[in-house]
Amino acid sequence: MVAASQIAPDDVICDAPAYCVCTFEEWRKRVCASCFSLASGRLTVRCPNCEHAFYCSEQCRTRHRIEGSVGSAPHGRVCAALRRFAPLRKYGKSTANVLRLLLEALACRADATDAADAADTADGLFDALVHHPPHWSQPKEAQEWARVSAAFRTLLSRCDWWHAPPPSDDELFALVSRLDSNIFGCFVRDDGAIFGHACYLQAATFNHSCEPNCVAMRGVARMRIVAQEAVAAGEPLTISYIDANRPVHARRKDLSDHYHFTCDCPRCTAEATNGAVRTKLTYGGGGALRRDAAGKDAPRRGGVASPLPKAPPPPAAATKPTRPWFEALA
Ligand SMILES: [Zn+2]
Ligand SMILES: [Zn+2]
Ligand SMILES: [Zn+2]
Repeated sequence: MVAASQIAPDDVICDAPAYCVCTFEEWRKRVCASCFSLASGRLTVRCPNCEHAFYCSEQCRTRHRIEGSVGSAPHGRVCAALRRFAPLRKYGKSTANVLRLLLEALACRADATDAADAADTADGLFDALVHHPPHWSQPKEAQEWARVSAAFRTLLSRCDWWHAPPPSDDELFALVSRLDSNIFGCFVRDDGAIFGHACYLQAATFNHSCEPNCVAMRGVARMRIVAQEAVAAGEPLTISYIDANRPVHARRKDLSDHYHFTCDCPRCTAEATNGAVRTKLTYGGGGALRRDAAGKDAPRRGGVASPLPKAPPPPAAATKPTRPWFEALA
């Protein structure tokens, strides 16, 4: 994305809702699944049928079951599937968390059955995201993904809104790949704890820089992208996908592992050449920004490796979907 006109510091460039939102498994008993408020202790109001949805009040439970909330499908749509979620936990927190988010995304778009429904909507934006094909370094990685996919297809078979043929391993990988490159940690507490993640489609339209001129500020279910400096018309607008306060080798590894490119921004080039020079970035936007990149990393820490291995550069953008909508995404 480039600036269409002169931009001043603190200008809000975009303010958009999350495409899908999900609390991490380990926090689901402390965060209301409907209004996303954080409780000081374990929530006592819960879905009577599954272990996945806890609420701050009866009103939140009722509303969420029927209507869902921003980025979160009506719970009635996913409850039956979530009762069979346990087998996916053995593939690690990272995998389980991204598949949990994928289930929300699929359930949110349950009424969109073909490309006509998706066109010009958030679903259309999601379908157009670049994804990365599998590039397994060992046969056992492909075998594990096949087992993960089979378990996820079992979940989908429990969903009365899923009318399409079961997605193949590659189709599921393509869906997860789109999410994985566009999820950020959210629900950031003052002490830096992150207890959920969300996919923000608009972030995908901003290129990465380790010295970005914009910053992504995340509320629970919205992302605002705000200019940090004056930007002239025609100049690229950039955000940092990762923790820009880390050393150059760590930044480049994160970007290569999870975003599939080598960063040659001026800062990376200078720091790689000069060795120890490390610039501490200070954002003007306040505390919500401190954990910007940590939010992206957090789902992967403490769990097994991401289901997405290092992959070669992406192919051209996805072609226009045809029925069923996910078939053209693989
Ligand atoms: Zn609530
Ligand atoms: Zn439930
Ligand atoms: Zn860089």
